[in-house]
Amino acid sequence: MAELQKEFMDFKTFNFHSSIAAGIEAAGYQTPTPIQRKAIPAVLKGQDIMGLAQTGTGKTAAFVLPILERLINGGRGFVRALIVAPTRELAEQINDNICTLGKKTGLRSISIYGGVNITTQIAKLARGVDIVVACPGRLLDHLKQRTVSLSRLEVLVLDEADHMFDMGFFPDIKRIMQQLPARRQNLLFSATMPREILHLAREVLYQPVTIQIGITAPADTVTHAIYPVAHHLKTRLLLELLKNTSTESVLIFTRTKHRAKRVGEQLAKKGFKAASIQGNLSQNRRREALNGFRDGTYQILVATDIAARGIDVSGVSHVINYDIPNTPDAYIHRIGRTGRAARTGEAFTLVTDDDINVVRGIERVLGARIKSKVLDDFDYDIPAPKNNQEFARPPRKPVPRHKSLHRQKKTGPKPSRSTSPAGAKPARPQQRPAGSKPAAGSKPKPRHGGGSFRSRRSR
Ligand code: AMP
Repeated sequence: MAELQKEFMDFKTFNFHSSIAAGIEAAGYQTPTPIQRKAIPAVLKGQDIMGLAQTGTGKTAAFVLPILERLINGGRGFVRALIVAPTRELAEQINDNICTLGKKTGLRSISIYGGVNITTQIAKLARGVDIVVACPGRLLDHLKQRTVSLSRLEVLVLDEADHMFDMGFFPDIKRIMQQLPARRQNLLFSATMPREILHLAREVLYQPVTIQIGITAPADTVTHAIYPVAHHLKTRLLLELLKNTSTESVLIFTRTKHRAKRVGEQLAKKGFKAASIQGNLSQNRRREALNGFRDGTYQILVATDIAARGIDVSGVSHVINYDIPNTPDAYIHRIGRTGRAARTGEAFTLVTDDDINVVRGIERVLGARIKSKVLDDFDYDIPAPKNNQEFARPPRKPVPRHKSLHRQKKTGPKPSRSTSPAGAKPARPQQRPAGSKPAAGSKPKPRHGGGSFRSRRSR
């Protein structure tokens, strides 16, 4: 009975200020999601939170709503809440959420990240903001230039902490925290809980309430299928799949930036409305691709995991893993983009023989075997080209030693971080986690998609 009541609990229970209630209505939220039910009361009480949840669970509103409630009373025009996020997309998305939910509150927020002009941000900060959503690099630049002050901060949110760690942001985060008042509320969100996040949580949080939202949530509304195929036939199979499937909008994941770009180009060449996003794109091109995907100009978006972080597009009907992710968690995270809010979605994964262990791991998390499928009219026996350069990196041009020395002399020492595009850390680690496999194309291809996957094919 208590469970049933929880199911029907609505936002009125939280007794939000009428201007916030208006924002909830404008966003179209009717029932709080599980993380909102658990987190909102604790945040409203001023408690620290350790939230184990990922994108797609409604975690943004779970912290944004009670923060807005807190900020409605008290002073205005100085930074009282800071949300730190690993990517520009996530920062923008959180800020969009704040703008929608807080539209009637009169509170002002800004998203700050690198790769765009800093002076516009400086001007906006100077006019006074109450909430800052920031990527660590550019925020540090502002702190160094004293264009932002966090000395009166009341709430700190570290979102997607595991990805901030993966991206090498922890030293920056520690530097930022040195500039915050000791007395403050801290909310930390992470999809996974490796040792490093536990350490961070111990350092940052005071008597936190731990909230964990299961990772199997998308399984109910998403059907999963694997398509065994040889490396060299992946693109052909992908094209066939797209031709034979009725899709609304499709998010395709690749393991590397280079592949995302290449697959996007190949799909566009074949007449699909496709775009790709990966870390090398300028902010404008990313935004253009994302907006195009949101408004339907592009039906297909090809992305790497990192570039796709925080992408929130309702109505993704299909997630296709051109490359299988490295872990079951990453799989669940990718798949979380479809089947949202009781819509149904499909998740297709192209798998080669090398992927069998990851598939088994995913099946363990889902608690079920994933259906293995074949396309009837597809020729799985086309041999690999002798010199398959499909995804080989273009060779680097050797730089003559004397030339590089010459250049160094001419331009002097390396520019400081504040003059380089902030947020783009100089020694940011590769997006492929350590221990994962190298990109295909770097080793000989088996002739067939075969192996143990092949034995399950029903041709
Ligand atoms: P998030 O996990 O914060 O990225 O949220 C995922 C999506 O769910 C976003 O599109 C939110 O706008 C949406 N959302 C968040 N809370 C609710 C809710 N209570 N009811 C319906 N949609 C929601």
